[in-house]
Amino acid sequence: MTIHAFILASRPLGERDRIISVFSREEGRMVLVAKGAQRSTSVQRMHTDAFSQITCGVVRGRALPIMTSAQTVHAYPEMHASLPALAMASFMSEACERLVPFHDPDEALWDFFTHAYEDLNAGRLLTRATITARQEALLTVLGYPGPRGRCALCLREEHPNGWFTHADIGGRVCASCAPRGSVTASGAGIGDVGAQFEVTAGARFASLPLLRAVLQ
Ligand SMILES: [Zn+2]
Repeated sequence: MTIHAFILASRPLGERDRIISVFSREEGRMVLVAKGAQRSTSVQRMHTDAFSQITCGVVRGRALPIMTSAQTVHAYPEMHASLPALAMASFMSEACERLVPFHDPDEALWDFFTHAYEDLNAGRLLTRATITARQEALLTVLGYPGPRGRCALCLREEHPNGWFTHADIGGRVCASCAPRGSVTASGAGIGDVGAQFEVTAGARFASLPLLRAVLQ
Protein backbone atom coordinates (compact mmCIF):
# COMPACT_ATOMS: atom_id res chain seq x y z
CA MET A 1 0.00 0.00 0.00
CA THR A 2 1.20 3.51 -0.84
CA ILE A 3 0.05 6.47 1.24
CA HIS A 4 0.34 10.25 1.13
CA ALA A 5 0.75 11.63 4.62
CA PHE A 6 1.53 14.59 6.83
CA ILE A 7 4.06 13.68 9.51
CA LEU A 8 2.60 14.73 12.86
CA ALA A 9 5.54 13.63 15.00
CA SER A 10 8.77 11.67 14.67
CA ARG A 11 10.21 10.02 17.78
CA PRO A 12 13.25 7.78 18.41
CA LEU A 13 12.58 4.06 18.86
CA GLY A 14 15.60 2.37 20.39
CA GLU A 15 18.94 3.18 18.85
CA ARG A 16 18.18 2.59 15.19
CA ASP A 17 14.51 3.14 14.37
CA ARG A 18 11.97 5.92 14.58
CA ILE A 19 8.25 5.96 15.36
CA ILE A 20 6.46 8.11 12.80
CA SER A 21 2.99 9.44 13.62
CA VAL A 22 1.16 10.42 10.43
CA PHE A 23 -2.19 11.58 9.11
CA SER A 24 -2.61 9.99 5.70
CA ARG A 25 -5.07 10.69 2.94
CA GLU A 26 -5.72 7.01 2.28
CA GLU A 27 -5.85 5.51 5.78
CA GLY A 28 -6.31 8.43 8.17
CA ARG A 29 -4.11 8.56 11.26
CA MET A 30 -1.47 5.84 11.60
CA VAL A 31 1.70 5.09 13.54
CA LEU A 32 4.54 3.59 11.49
CA VAL A 33 8.06 2.36 12.20
CA ALA A 34 10.87 3.78 10.06
CA LYS A 35 13.59 1.13 10.20
CA GLY A 36 17.13 2.46 10.50
CA ALA A 37 15.92 6.06 10.36
CA GLN A 38 17.62 6.89 13.65
CA ARG A 39 21.09 6.64 12.10
CA SER A 40 22.47 9.98 10.99
CA THR A 41 23.59 8.47 7.68
CA SER A 42 20.14 7.10 6.88
CA VAL A 43 18.54 8.29 3.66
CA GLN A 44 15.18 7.40 5.20
CA ARG A 45 15.81 9.87 8.02
CA MET A 46 15.56 12.82 5.62
CA HIS A 47 11.99 11.84 4.88
CA THR A 48 10.79 11.40 8.44
CA ASP A 49 10.89 15.00 9.68
CA ALA A 50 7.80 16.25 11.49
CA PHE A 51 5.57 18.80 9.72
CA SER A 52 6.35 17.64 6.20
CA GLN A 53 4.27 15.86 3.58
CA ILE A 54 5.57 12.53 2.31
CA THR A 55 4.58 9.58 0.22
CA CYS A 56 5.68 6.13 1.31
CA GLY A 57 4.96 2.44 1.18
CA VAL A 58 3.44 0.65 4.16
CA VAL A 59 4.01 -3.05 4.86
CA ARG A 60 2.84 -5.23 7.71
CA GLY A 61 5.26 -5.40 10.64
CA ARG A 62 5.42 -7.53 13.78
CA ALA A 63 3.77 -4.94 16.01
CA LEU A 64 3.37 -1.77 13.97
CA PRO A 65 3.27 -1.30 10.19
CA ILE A 66 6.61 -0.43 8.62
CA MET A 67 7.29 2.59 6.42
CA THR A 68 9.22 1.86 3.22
CA SER A 69 10.74 4.01 0.50
CA ALA A 70 9.61 7.35 1.90
CA GLN A 71 9.86 10.42 -0.33
CA THR A 72 9.31 14.01 0.72
CA VAL A 73 6.51 15.66 -1.30
CA HIS A 74 6.63 19.04 0.51
CA ALA A 75 9.25 20.01 3.09
CA TYR A 76 7.69 23.47 3.77
CA PRO A 77 11.09 25.15 4.35
CA GLU A 78 9.68 28.64 4.99
CA MET A 79 7.27 27.26 7.57
CA HIS A 80 10.14 25.51 9.35
CA ALA A 81 12.09 28.79 9.44
CA SER A 82 9.24 30.71 11.13
CA LEU A 83 8.64 30.16 14.85
CA PRO A 84 4.95 31.25 14.78
CA ALA A 85 4.30 29.04 11.74
CA LEU A 86 6.07 26.11 13.36
CA ALA A 87 4.12 26.65 16.58
CA MET A 88 0.83 26.46 14.66
CA ALA A 89 1.95 23.34 12.76
CA SER A 90 2.89 21.77 16.08
CA PHE A 91 -0.52 22.64 17.53
CA MET A 92 -2.37 21.22 14.51
CA SER A 93 -0.37 18.01 14.76
CA GLU A 94 -1.05 17.63 18.47
CA ALA A 95 -4.77 18.28 17.92
CA CYS A 96 -4.77 15.57 15.24
CA GLU A 97 -2.93 13.10 17.49
CA ARG A 98 -5.25 13.74 20.43
CA LEU A 99 -8.62 14.01 18.66
CA VAL A 100 -8.51 11.95 15.44
CA PRO A 101 -9.10 8.19 15.69
CA PHE A 102 -6.84 5.70 13.91
CA HIS A 103 -7.69 4.41 10.42
CA ASP A 104 -10.50 6.87 9.77
CA PRO A 105 -9.76 8.66 6.46
CA ASP A 106 -11.07 12.24 6.39
CA GLU A 107 -10.84 14.15 3.13
CA ALA A 108 -11.94 17.43 4.75
CA LEU A 109 -9.17 17.17 7.35
CA TRP A 110 -6.66 16.31 4.60
CA ASP A 111 -7.70 19.47 2.73
CA PHE A 112 -7.45 21.48 5.94
CA PHE A 113 -3.85 20.36 6.52
CA THR A 114 -2.95 20.97 2.87
CA HIS A 115 -4.27 24.54 2.82
CA ALA A 116 -3.06 25.45 6.31
CA TYR A 117 0.49 24.25 5.59
CA GLU A 118 0.54 26.13 2.28
CA ASP A 119 -0.57 29.30 4.09
CA LEU A 120 1.95 28.83 6.89
CA ASN A 121 4.73 28.21 4.39
CA ALA A 122 3.75 31.38 2.51
CA GLY A 123 3.85 33.44 5.71
CA ARG A 124 0.09 33.93 5.82
CA LEU A 125 -2.07 33.01 8.82
CA LEU A 126 0.33 34.44 11.36
CA THR A 127 -1.78 37.02 13.21
CA ARG A 128 -3.70 36.19 16.36
CA ALA A 129 -7.00 36.71 14.54
CA THR A 130 -6.21 34.40 11.64
CA ILE A 131 -4.66 31.73 13.87
CA THR A 132 -7.77 31.82 16.06
CA ALA A 133 -10.03 31.56 13.01
CA ARG A 134 -8.01 28.58 11.77
CA GLN A 135 -8.28 26.92 15.17
CA GLU A 136 -12.04 27.40 15.10
CA ALA A 137 -12.16 25.97 11.59
CA LEU A 138 -10.13 22.97 12.73
CA LEU A 139 -12.58 22.30 15.56
CA THR A 140 -15.41 22.38 13.03
CA VAL A 141 -13.56 20.04 10.62
CA LEU A 142 -13.00 17.66 13.54
CA GLY A 143 -16.74 17.65 14.21
CA TYR A 144 -16.93 20.05 17.15
CA PRO A 145 -18.80 23.34 16.90
CA GLY A 146 -16.56 26.37 17.28
CA PRO A 147 -17.14 29.28 19.66
CA ARG A 148 -19.57 30.87 17.21
CA GLY A 149 -21.51 27.67 16.76
CA ARG A 150 -24.89 26.88 18.21
CA CYS A 151 -25.77 25.14 21.43
CA ALA A 152 -25.70 21.45 20.58
CA LEU A 153 -29.01 20.88 22.40
CA CYS A 154 -31.27 23.93 21.92
CA LEU A 155 -29.47 25.34 18.83
CA ARG A 156 -29.49 28.90 20.20
CA GLU A 157 -26.62 31.04 18.98
CA GLU A 158 -26.63 33.49 21.89
CA HIS A 159 -24.35 32.60 24.74
CA PRO A 160 -24.62 35.40 27.34
CA ASN A 161 -23.38 33.10 30.08
CA GLY A 162 -20.68 31.41 28.04
CA TRP A 163 -20.37 27.89 26.77
CA PHE A 164 -20.05 24.61 28.59
CA THR A 165 -18.95 21.15 27.59
CA HIS A 166 -19.85 17.73 28.92
CA ALA A 167 -18.14 14.41 28.33
CA ASP A 168 -21.37 12.86 27.01
CA ILE A 169 -22.20 15.69 24.58
CA GLY A 170 -20.17 16.16 21.42
CA GLY A 171 -20.07 19.93 21.35
CA ARG A 172 -20.77 23.09 23.28
CA VAL A 173 -23.95 23.69 25.19
CA CYS A 174 -25.38 26.89 26.62
CA ALA A 175 -25.71 27.57 30.35
CA SER A 176 -29.43 26.66 30.30
CA CYS A 177 -28.79 23.25 28.72
CA ALA A 178 -25.56 22.32 30.50
CA PRO A 179 -26.18 19.10 32.47
CA ARG A 180 -24.71 18.37 35.88
CA GLY A 181 -21.03 17.60 35.49
CA SER A 182 -20.47 20.13 32.71
CA VAL A 183 -17.32 22.18 32.79
CA THR A 184 -16.91 25.71 31.59
CA ALA A 185 -14.92 26.27 28.46
CA SER A 186 -13.66 29.57 29.83
CA GLY A 187 -10.76 28.27 31.89
CA ALA A 188 -8.31 30.38 29.90
CA GLY A 189 -10.81 32.90 28.56
CA ILE A 190 -13.89 32.13 26.50
CA GLY A 191 -12.23 33.50 23.39
CA ASP A 192 -9.24 31.17 23.73
CA VAL A 193 -9.93 28.39 21.27
CA GLY A 194 -6.89 26.51 22.51
CA ALA A 195 -8.64 26.01 25.84
CA GLN A 196 -11.60 24.54 23.99
CA PHE A 197 -9.29 21.96 22.39
CA GLU A 198 -7.95 21.02 25.81
CA VAL A 199 -11.45 20.65 27.24
CA THR A 200 -12.50 18.58 24.23
CA ALA A 201 -9.45 16.31 24.46
CA GLY A 202 -9.46 16.19 28.25
CA ALA A 203 -5.73 16.90 28.27
CA ARG A 204 -3.27 19.73 28.36
CA PHE A 205 -1.71 20.52 24.98
CA ALA A 206 2.09 20.69 25.15
CA SER A 207 2.11 22.88 22.01
CA LEU A 208 -0.18 25.63 23.36
CA PRO A 209 2.18 27.61 25.63
CA LEU A 210 4.53 28.26 22.70
CA LEU A 211 1.68 29.14 20.33
CA ARG A 212 0.22 31.59 22.87
CA ALA A 213 3.64 33.12 23.52
CA VAL A 214 4.53 33.76 19.88
CA LEU A 215 1.12 35.30 19.16
CA GLN A 216 1.29 37.92 21.89
ZN1 LIG B 1 -28.92 25.31 24.90
